[in-house]
Amino acid sequence: MILLDRVTKTYGKTLGSALDRVSLHVEPKEFVIVVGQSGAGKSTLLKLLTREERPSSGKIIVGGIDYDKLPDKDIPLLRRKIGVVFQDFKLLPNRTVFENVAFALEIVGVSTKEINNTVPRVLEIVNLKDKAKRMPVELSGGERQRVAIARAIVRQPKILIADEPTGNLDPKHAWDVITVLEKINRYGTTVLLTTHNQDIVNKLKRRVITIKNCRVVSDRANAQYNEKPPVVRSV
Ligand code: ADP
Ligand code: MG
Repeated sequence: MILLDRVTKTYGKTLGSALDRVSLHVEPKEFVIVVGQSGAGKSTLLKLLTREERPSSGKIIVGGIDYDKLPDKDIPLLRRKIGVVFQDFKLLPNRTVFENVAFALEIVGVSTKEINNTVPRVLEIVNLKDKAKRMPVELSGGERQRVAIARAIVRQPKILIADEPTGNLDPKHAWDVITVLEKINRYGTTVLLTTHNQDIVNKLKRRVITIKNCRVVSDRANAQYNEKPPVVRSV
């Protein structure tokens, strides 16, 4: 489903690498967690998958699409296969929950009838059916993130990318979001999650890929994540 072969990404000529010869393989329907400290290269990895950034070298193949052979005009098609959610939700503030989700269908020309059919079903998946008429400002952070997830999955992508989706949430709301991601994964979507949250990683018991200094330093099934505290030397 996702294949990276020695992918290196350097931003600009003078800066160091953001990713250095990263190779990995994700099977369809896997749930993969990417961990690493701030600046490790997690978001860069995800942006390469969505084609927001291009690699400096190396090969990327997603869902059978070889990115080297992908013309710009086909990028929207690729993006329909990949749903994305971010830490800061990115909802349209003056549209209702329903309209926020519907928007993702409107822009690709889906009929009103189909929209009215699909959106309630997706809101049900994220446990927000009763909030369809609310405005984003009336929702908690966890609810807003679940609207963002509904919007990301409404076109039934094969892959859902969630870049620190719980970064702004308290533990209870974070778990509501993670529970929804697990449900979507059970329904057959490949999920790629980045997080700093050790508690979430350790309870999920999923494959964990650790990025450190731009490189994959470990890739383990059912892994635990305990970032070592910095060494304090006594004088
Ligand atoms: P993470 O998501 O793990 O915090 P990022 O992928 O955002 O890490 O960043 C990895 C490295 O690349 C960092 O050193 C960061 O400063 C750098 N970087 C990220 N985006 C850009 C950009 N658009 N231009 C220049 N450097 C960038
Ligand atoms: Mg990041």
